[in-house]
Amino acid sequence: MATTRPPQDRDSQMQDQHTSPPAVDLRGVTKRFGAVTAVDRLDLTIRSGEFFTMLGASGCGKTTTLRLIAGFDLPTEGQILISGQDVSEVPAYQRPVHTVFQSYALFPHMTILDNVAFPLKVRRLTRAEQRDRAMAALDMVQMGGLADRRPAQLSGGQQQRAALARALVNEPAVLLLDEPLGALDLKLRKEMQHELKEMQRRLGITFVFVTHDQEEALTLSDRIALMQGGRIIQLDTPANLYNAPKTLYAASFIGETNLIPARVIGHDGDTGLVEALGRTRRIEGLAAPAGSAVTLALRPERIRRDAAGEGPEGRLVGIDFIGTDLRLTYALADGTSIVVREQNRGTAIPAIGETTRLGHDDGDLHIFTT
Ligand code: ATP
Repeated sequence: MATTRPPQDRDSQMQDQHTSPPAVDLRGVTKRFGAVTAVDRLDLTIRSGEFFTMLGASGCGKTTTLRLIAGFDLPTEGQILISGQDVSEVPAYQRPVHTVFQSYALFPHMTILDNVAFPLKVRRLTRAEQRDRAMAALDMVQMGGLADRRPAQLSGGQQQRAALARALVNEPAVLLLDEPLGALDLKLRKEMQHELKEMQRRLGITFVFVTHDQEEALTLSDRIALMQGGRIIQLDTPANLYNAPKTLYAASFIGETNLIPARVIGHDGDTGLVEALGRTRRIEGLAAPAGSAVTLALRPERIRRDAAGEGPEGRLVGIDFIGTDLRLTYALADGTSIVVREQNRGTAIPAIGETTRLGHDDGDLHIFTT
């Protein structure tokens, strides 16, 4: 591409985040379809140069939010700014964004080169410019050698690369990606995840990514907005979202977790006392009255087999051999089922029926009242 911006290093991208206006700014955005509120009073600032992901279960409003940014739908209420400019009145084709869909949306009768050059043709660039910039975009996604093929002559991964090249050819300020890897098989999907992230780092373009796949979101993103019912319930880095979920929903949606029912048994001043996993826990600031049900969340990889410890005794009732990991399911005396995940270090696999004590650090236990 003749005018491709120079690759930025990570530091200068970070600097940009503080000096340039946000890539996308949603202010009190609501979208209603008849009686359905798909997006509910959303305030969201996406920084320039970040890989931002909207994550959530089907129907949470993530695609609608993306379509509002793209301009395919208009908000019922609220304001949308892109790079500091209010785009509420700007039609989709004039917004400085490009959307990549799961379905690739390539023209089947055109070569890959013509597909990628198409947005430049619409802008009436000269034929030489169209060709040069389309070839440069194809090179960027390692597709330069396949420029003369038609979409049907390419694999799914190659078609998605071509769709990405077409998205990049206009050098959008923001690239919107709606489950772009959803149609690929698992191995290719992992490869493309790596490439996408690499490309985003290199180009410094803001990526706004939509997925329902929590592992994909954790792998790719600088920040993740976890959505439910048209609202963001936690906006955080992948590590914080995983290690310090703020709600029971976040704890159970992101990664595997043991959810253990327990009860408040009393209080000591401001500190609530909860009986769980064979011990009384002191939970500062827990106001729920005695007798209330609470849920403890504990990640499987934070539990260890600890025969000499004081944790509750569990009997092994299930083994999943995952290759890199062992996933062991234990039954406690009260019937609670606890999953333990440990790295496969080649040591002997325990046998079904074996008992052991299960230990964990208190800091790894999260308590939720609802
Ligand atoms: P998925 O992962 O299934 O695409 P999503 O999180 O992207 O789900 P949206 O597509 O944004 O969710 O939909 C949010 C809500 O709005 C859903 O209840 C959906 O049925 C509704 N909805 C979305 N588009 C329309 C429409 N054009 N007309 C009516 N209701 C709609």
